Amino acid sequence: MEKLLLIPGPSPVVPRILRSLAEPTVSHVSQEMALDLSTALQNLKKIVFGENAEPFIIAGAGTLAMEIALLNVVAKTDRILILSQGFFGDRMGQICESFGIEHDLIRSQWGRAVLPGDLAAKIAEKKYDVVFSTHVDTATGACAPVAEYAGILKDAGILYVVDGVCATGGVEERLDDWGIDIIFTAAQKCFGAPPGLAILAFSERAMAKRKSLPSIPAYYSDILRWLPIMKDPQKYFSTPCVNQIRSFCEATKIMLEEGLPARFARHKKTARAFRDALAALGFSFFTEEPFLADTLSVVQYPAGVVDQEFRVALGRNGVVVAGGLGDTAGKVFRLGHMGNLTSAQIVFAVKAMEAALDSLKYEFARGAGVQAAEKALA
Ligand code: PMP
Repeated sequence: MEKLLLIPGPSPVVPRILRSLAEPTVSHVSQEMALDLSTALQNLKKIVFGENAEPFIIAGAGTLAMEIALLNVVAKTDRILILSQGFFGDRMGQICESFGIEHDLIRSQWGRAVLPGDLAAKIAEKKYDVVFSTHVDTATGACAPVAEYAGILKDAGILYVVDGVCATGGVEERLDDWGIDIIFTAAQKCFGAPPGLAILAFSERAMAKRKSLPSIPAYYSDILRWLPIMKDPQKYFSTPCVNQIRSFCEATKIMLEEGLPARFARHKKTARAFRDALAALGFSFFTEEPFLADTLSVVQYPAGVVDQEFRVALGRNGVVVAGGLGDTAGKVFRLGHMGNLTSAQIVFAVKAMEAALDSLKYEFARGAGVQAAEKALA
């Protein structure tokens, strides 16, 4: 039985995208490939509201996108600030360390995000050149107030880089209007495409910063080597993953066919449906209310339900969720609800949760979860 993948990425891939992946591999410098890559790049600009952005699609994953974003805009003497609300903000710090890049870190408590006031206070105290933040942290389910951060940083003339790996395409991010300099992301979450691509959009200011750096400690990750290919995909630098790019192109078409406002609203509704259902079954949430993300939930068990047993029982009923990371391991499960999920899949998942609880002999209000989900989806 094919299981419904509700981990915080990869998200389920719809048949239309899977079919595009299975079409014959064409030459990486063919017209077919050029059309797919150019279309995907144009669509990406629309998805991040970056009319003036320079988009990049490069074989890799989210972590490569993090590295590319860092190495292409950071000069040796730059002062770097990272806002971390969990696992992936901390990872940005580790990448800095790997390249000997000094940085400061503001960490929020897990389940929250750094408050805009704390960012404003920090940049008033010390001059920074580049600030990095995570939009949605996949370990904690906390969504940061990116538009507010951007406003503060724009006024201060500081370059701002956003990790949109668990947000872009599911939660609004407006590169031009908000004054974000880089949004980087990956294919496997809100785009609903298979994993394997690092995706970035650079503002004019971020491009100018890269061009001002005489050299960077990177070869494959140097966007100036990729720029000619993004402008003219029939040129060669390093063989692009033809099938993957075609499938990503298809994913972006699906997103634009749905319409971005409708897509963001659907993610919000999906989150509501799952949370109402889970609350009706006795679960609670790790993330504090104002920071709850629309793309995943970090769910705490009611007394008497054991993590491993629940996740195994859920798997038997056709749904895969993820365990907690760090200190939350064994105490929560992480439920991804992003990409191209349908109402029928949401209801199926809630039924599976009820069946799992039933098989564990846990006492709960039978049917209450499904009823709550259906009400939220109506
Ligand atoms: N940033 C965030 C917010 C993520 O959720 C992830 C992946 N879970 C990454 C970065 C790293 O992406 P990848 O696993 O594709 O390397």
